[in-house]
Amino acid sequence: MALIVQKFGGTSVASTDRIKSVAKRVARWKAQGHDMIVVPSAMSGETNRLIALAREISALPDPRELDVIASTGEQVTIGLLSMALKEEGVKAKSYTGAQVRVLTDDTFTKARILRIDDEKIRRDIADGYVVVVAGFQGVDENGNITTLGRGGSDTSAVALAAALKADECQIYTDVDGVYTTDPRVEPDARKLDTITFEEMLEMASLGSKVLQIRSVEFAGKYKVKLRVLSSFQNEGEGTLITVEEDRPMEQPIISGIAFNRDEAKLTILGIPDRPSVAYQLLGPIADANIDVDMIIQNVANDETADFSFTVNRGDYTRAMDILEGAVDRLGARGVLGDNRICKVSAVGVGMRSHPGIASKMFSALGREGINIKMISTSEIKISVVVDEKYLELAVRVLHKAFGLDKAE
Ligand code: ADP
Ligand code: ASP
Ligand code: MG
Repeated sequence: MALIVQKFGGTSVASTDRIKSVAKRVARWKAQGHDMIVVPSAMSGETNRLIALAREISALPDPRELDVIASTGEQVTIGLLSMALKEEGVKAKSYTGAQVRVLTDDTFTKARILRIDDEKIRRDIADGYVVVVAGFQGVDENGNITTLGRGGSDTSAVALAAALKADECQIYTDVDGVYTTDPRVEPDARKLDTITFEEMLEMASLGSKVLQIRSVEFAGKYKVKLRVLSSFQNEGEGTLITVEEDRPMEQPIISGIAFNRDEAKLTILGIPDRPSVAYQLLGPIADANIDVDMIIQNVANDETADFSFTVNRGDYTRAMDILEGAVDRLGARGVLGDNRICKVSAVGVGMRSHPGIASKMFSALGREGINIKMISTSEIKISVVVDEKYLELAVRVLHKAFGLDKAE
């Protein structure tokens, strides 16, 4: 007998029929003698609908109120799922984040979990209940409702698993595991039986939305056994996220190709090349709470520099306004912007011990006539920025070049 946390994403609870099917699955696990905590997301499309409603009222919705609205999607699915479990003859009880007390900080729309009061859950489990907890939400110390950022139900599930020392946290979604790349873009993508935390962290941070990055961080930190599986299948082991030492010996150098469509690039031209320029440029961007990703500075002979960086596409207009405001102050020549770019990355811990991965990547892209606009590397990843129109082609070309296609 084990304690299992099961999380079901939006498509897995998209209709009452899907919810009934989830309830049947949970009931089977319960019947096998396991203690169960279940974390549903909102029905698919619901969180988008709620945010769109808020935007109809206010172009820049108040973040506190936005969380009050966006969190309601999960309140519906916990109630429905608990009812469906009862119909299966299983005792079940639902809780919102605030009722459990999933305590978070007060960063509305992307709050971090600080602590989970597990007393009620433990008591209910001891009394034989399946406990159904709303994903994506918590409450700050003043009782304000918070949400954990898009895709945050993954993190709710892992945090509950960590707090209750669950034997396994299972993330059920609409694919049967983590693939070498998004199977919707590359039909030849292969399911991975295992992937290391480190690689999964990189994949998630580079755009593979199959797991929210914070859930992977949490699982790594608290040693939660984390598995991704399909809620549309009854068979299959999914993908287990592992520590590096437990990896099979023979692994490819590159484990996967990640991509992010949501990118934009800004360049400020001809700024005088003197100390603290980078700070003067990026300080106001950071003050505006805009995350900067890649940064490149080229110094020309005339002692001026061109400075380029990428931001999330949603922050493009605000970042552009800030840069335009900085041109005169910094004595720069002008500003350029491009919000039709994307980032494609190759990820693999094997890169550490194998040189030449970057050149292989660049030559594969070059052969297809794909121009690289920016490059960044770390120990286990290489990312390139390319024109958005090349995204699918670049993903497929790299997937093949690194021997990840199914047939190979
Ligand atoms: P859920 O609603 O269940 O949380 P998500 O849409 O957040 O589901 O995540 C699942 C989706 O992630 C898949 O449908 C797939 O398109 C996408 N995805 C992106 N990269 C990968 C990858 N490397 N492996 C598997 N799925 C991926
Ligand atoms: N419902 C939330 C979202 O759409 C949380 C989640 O699905 O994980 O982002
Ligand atoms: Mg998700």
